[in-house]
Amino acid sequence: MAARIVIVGGGVGGLVVANRLALLAPDDGQITLVDATGWHTYQQGWLYVPFGEVMPKQLQKRLKSLVYDRVQVVAKPVMGIDLDNRTVYFNGERLSYDFLVLATGCEPNPAEVPGLAEGVHHFHSADAAVRLREALANFEGGRIVVGVGGLPYKCPPSPIEFVCLLHEHLVRRGLRERTELVYATPLPRIFHIEPLVPIFEERFERFGIKLVPFFTLETFEPSQRKAVSLDGTELTAEVFVLVPPHAGSEIARKLGIGDAKGFLPTDRHTLQVQGLERVYAIGDATNLTTPKAATAAQRQAFIAAENIVAQIAGKELRR
Ligand SMILES: Cc1cc2nc3c(=O)[nH]c(=O)nc-3n(C[C@H](O)[C@H](O)[C@H](O)COP(=O)(O)OP(=O)(O)OC[C@H]3O[C@@H](n4cnc5c(N)ncnc54)[C@H](O)[C@@H]3O)c2cc1C
Repeated sequence: MAARIVIVGGGVGGLVVANRLALLAPDDGQITLVDATGWHTYQQGWLYVPFGEVMPKQLQKRLKSLVYDRVQVVAKPVMGIDLDNRTVYFNGERLSYDFLVLATGCEPNPAEVPGLAEGVHHFHSADAAVRLREALANFEGGRIVVGVGGLPYKCPPSPIEFVCLLHEHLVRRGLRERTELVYATPLPRIFHIEPLVPIFEERFERFGIKLVPFFTLETFEPSQRKAVSLDGTELTAEVFVLVPPHAGSEIARKLGIGDAKGFLPTDRHTLQVQGLERVYAIGDATNLTTPKAATAAQRQAFIAAENIVAQIAGKELRR
């Protein structure tokens, strides 16, 4: 069968699955990678934008320059997917598929916590990272609260990395003596992965960063610049940097098959979307309990590619 494989999303997962399929899939098949922007973004680099070390544009490469020749790139947002008729819709156009890979990632959803969208900074999108850069440029001392504004979010250690980078940034600007740094997390300790706990604790001790555990953000009061946790603990600060809870992408939510936050129900062994044997989901778009991280998306891309090739050949799937 000359299989038509459509991949939606040109992030880490979509890019890797497209290139794996280019190497593994039978030559007569078609591989189409559809991305809303046509650019691949190195999101990890957003961590450095607030410190003026890089601008978002420098973190992007055209998808066409990153894929093998046999991968067709379509730079258009997918507006709808008809799972029954195996068709992907763009504005006025359509594409039929035999196999579909959903690699549409996830996005910050600050609206989930009252007040979080107003006056709280983060660095989990290009625009937010640029706004935070401006806020830090105007900062002249006081308290900064960094931490977790809700679950899930991408790259679990990223707020810890950020607060350590912020410490160094303030030292360089001669502002560290005049700044109190606080790290707030809903966890009972600094991080959930045990071997990393002493490493992070040592760093916080050395950098003079105060840890506030059990801080599950319930509301943010912009007029008072005050964050309030479920148990009533209050934190005030000049600047808040709280990573918002994330939700599935708009197109994944529109499919109506995901959980309450739009994460896709995915078989943890085969990576097929549950109940849809020719549809796969990988990376941050899934409801899997693996961390929302590029490392996970990349490994899942390998498995999804192998399983699609196995299905085309009528072989057993990798589990
Ligand atoms: C600040 C920060 C630091 C990080 N650091 C690390 C790290 O150190 N290590 C690590 O492993 N991970 C890290 N991550 C997480 C990592 O970037 C993500 O987990 C990874 O990008 C997920 O890959 P993905 O392919 O699932 O989704 P994404 O890379 O988010 O890609 C999703 C793609 O889908 C496209 N899309 C969405 N909707 C549509 C539509 N309707 N039509 C067409 N295309 C669509 C988007 O344009 C996007 O290109 C970090 C993330 C951030 C924000």
